Amino acid sequence: MRILVVEDEIGIANFLKQGLEEEGFEVDIAHHGNKGLDLALSGHYQLLLLDWMLPGKSGLEICEAFRSENKATPIIFLTAKDTISETVEALNTGANDYIKKPFHFEELLARIQVQLREEKESSRILSVGSLRLDPDKHEVKQADKPIDLTQKEFALLQYLLENKNSVCIRKDIIEKVWDIHFDYPTGVIDVFINALRKKLNLHKGNDLIQTVRGVGYIIKDS
Ligand code: CA
Repeated sequence: MRILVVEDEIGIANFLKQGLEEEGFEVDIAHHGNKGLDLALSGHYQLLLLDWMLPGKSGLEICEAFRSENKATPIIFLTAKDTISETVEALNTGANDYIKKPFHFEELLARIQVQLREEKESSRILSVGSLRLDPDKHEVKQADKPIDLTQKEFALLQYLLENKNSVCIRKDIIEKVWDIHFDYPTGVIDVFINALRKKLNLHKGNDLIQTVRGVGYIIKDS
């Protein structure tokens, strides 16, 4: 687990680096906001600890720029600012949590662990409505009831969920789910879609998988 600390106060930065390394994390430090953003965007980190007031880009600007790149890495702010409006501003910009200086290292560590645990639990699970697919456990549940799918049905549902709210075109489905990369009749998809619909509708009356005539299929957030 690698953490980026963006903090211009050398003493605090070193204190954090030492404490986190003793807990088994790898830690990089940036003392300047611009350098911090560059490092954050490199994608090497599981969590970012951002000071608010920095030379160059502020913590808030780093957070904003980072989130605008669609990066989901958890962010915790370290700051002396503590008015309600500033807290709200930080959270609205996409921070996951906020800790006020001066802080106890144990509290910061606990907050880091909460973020990393939530990140781990939510990172791989795909869902729509009450349907949840866990690729790691190879498990599908609808309204908490397990659904028994064949390997291909599972792979097809996973592909549709990974592309939720986008139309999955037939040629791509055949390539990604069946691993067939030449011109091949795509009627086989309909057979599996029908099987999936049957199994999923056993527990729920609506049709989750919509047909886009002549193009493919889509699963949409309701
Ligand atoms: Ca500062």
